[in-house]
Amino acid sequence: MKISKIILYNEPTVSKLNLKNIQKFILQTFGINCDIRENIFKKLNEKEYEKISNTRVFDLKKPFQKHTSSITEISIESQNTDMSREKEIPIYDGIEMSKVIEEIIPHQENIENILHIVFTNKLTGTFDLDDYRYHARVWVGSNPIIISTTGIIEAPAKPKQYYIDLMTNFSNESEETIRQKYKGEFLEHDDPRLPEIIEGYLLQSIMYYETGDVFCKDVQCRLFNAHWQKDLFISQIKNPSLCNQHTKILTKMKNNEG
Ligand SMILES: [Zn+2]
Repeated sequence: MKISKIILYNEPTVSKLNLKNIQKFILQTFGINCDIRENIFKKLNEKEYEKISNTRVFDLKKPFQKHTSSITEISIESQNTDMSREKEIPIYDGIEMSKVIEEIIPHQENIENILHIVFTNKLTGTFDLDDYRYHARVWVGSNPIIISTTGIIEAPAKPKQYYIDLMTNFSNESEETIRQKYKGEFLEHDDPRLPEIIEGYLLQSIMYYETGDVFCKDVQCRLFNAHWQKDLFISQIKNPSLCNQHTKILTKMKNNEG
């Protein structure tokens, strides 16, 4: 395999993210050892916080334009404020952010055989030229890879009827009541299903860096690209395994035949 070591960067605001378990999962699945580091955004300098803040997206219908951050915005960034539960969650351009992270990573570790996986509660997105707008993404980049814990909850779509209920909610039914009605049908913060879902996304991102190939058409395979949360539950919870073809590819990779 190309990768000889993985460095995992923690996101301590997510209680269901357990890097020790992830370390075990990666060792079992790929035979690769991981180092665990603290949150990458914890101790940056002023200039680095500014660069991260400059990757924020303010117009979802325009390709990325570098934002000029105000002092307040930079200070919000340096306090590492968790904005994942706000009503309007800010979105960052994931590709631009991964470029900034690449600069932050120590030079001697910025090499091909060390894969950096950065967990963050910041919501990342990419601009899609097909429909000319930004979409939230769970993971972005190849090395470093950013996995957005907020993206896991926000990116795959919730049941259609849930959105219809929200939009046609002219009665007094509160948003909370509607959420309760669909409880279990989509992920929430601290959802008990998060650890397995995170494993699935890790599999996808590591396989992508190794093979350059990603996503499977089989909804039963953990490499399936779920656009709907219901499909995410099929591929990661009901049947958390790889299809025959991807099992073979993984075995070959592990035995260094790939
Ligand atoms: Zn597959």
